Amino acid sequence: MSTNARNRAWMEVRADALLANARAIQASAGEGVRLVPMVKADAYGLGVADAVRVLDALEPWAFGVATAAEGVQLRELGVTGRVVVVSPPPAADLAVAVEADLQVGVSDVETLEALGEAAACAGGRAAFHVEIDTGMGRAGFDWRSVAEWGPAIQGAVGRGAEWVGCYTHLHSADEGEATVHEQWERFQAVLGALDPPEDALIHMLNSAGALRLPRYAVDAVRPGIFLYGGSAGADLGEPSEVASVHARVVRISDRSAGDTLGYGATYRASGPERWATLAIGYGDGLPRALGNKGSALLHGRRAGIIGRISMDVTVVNITDLPEVSVGDVATLIGTDGGERITVDEVATLADTISYEVLTGFTPRLPRVWVG
Ligand SMILES: *Cc1c(COP(=O)(O)O)cnc(C)c1O
Repeated sequence: MSTNARNRAWMEVRADALLANARAIQASAGEGVRLVPMVKADAYGLGVADAVRVLDALEPWAFGVATAAEGVQLRELGVTGRVVVVSPPPAADLAVAVEADLQVGVSDVETLEALGEAAACAGGRAAFHVEIDTGMGRAGFDWRSVAEWGPAIQGAVGRGAEWVGCYTHLHSADEGEATVHEQWERFQAVLGALDPPEDALIHMLNSAGALRLPRYAVDAVRPGIFLYGGSAGADLGEPSEVASVHARVVRISDRSAGDTLGYGATYRASGPERWATLAIGYGDGLPRALGNKGSALLHGRRAGIIGRISMDVTVVNITDLPEVSVGDVATLIGTDGGERITVDEVATLADTISYEVLTGFTPRLPRVWVG
């Protein structure tokens, strides 16, 4: 017996919208600039297999991932082009990266030497990018002390390690220009002192950077969130809607004043009310913080989420929506008629960011790619 992906609750993902957002980033960055689409965390929760299939049409310079295991997964999916692991790898992952022919972002000389050794052991070469910390603080060589670590990088090159790129990562490009200028200046100072190979790929900009200050793109940009339909900044334009989340109405009940709802009975009917139970909960990744706060769309209108969200179900108030019946499809994120709930609206209500909402959807929620 197989179940239909749209029986209960599902995420719909629009391939054409993903492509449109990627083209918008490319247009902003400019013609000669290459794309390194970030497909980490299962393409921000949307499904990496389909994401790379779609994004391949734009002939990216590489795909970006965060872990060696994600790089291996791309190889298993048949990706033969470049794959860059941008997060600092634990030592045990270096051999994995070498075996899968992944490029590795390095933040310290020990890792670079270990990578070169792992490659030499395997009888090959490992390509690496030097990550420079210009203010993000979580990874990279410190921009202030290039005189100390720069020579060690030159020394490590050739022993199994091949220097193919340099990058830094922006911390506040979603908010404004000032910090981007500052990080750019620091990045330039390091590059001037470092003397990377002529053909090394120089890259700095995430989605927000690529839209806000594309003149700093240099050779490539590394967009993520905007591709997947999350805003890159309030003033940076709306992406096309890529992911929408839907659930079936599985129960409708008529209620009287005082009836309680959900764990903790945090909601009580104030009079005669009608409630609809939706077949989706926090076990699917719907943020529990939306309890008594969020809404769902039914028949093109908003119905408020009432009570706490359970692991498997969520209840909405349909007292003013008499046309709703069991089997109808509710939209938790997405568009229905003239109404829309964006992933950013949900993130704000849940006191988080679109990235966390998207990557929080669990394997129980089928991803259905269309278009
Ligand atoms: C995740 C990530 C990106 C993409 O950032 P977005 O804000 O999603 O565009 C780019 N570069 C690095 C190093 C990252 O970790």
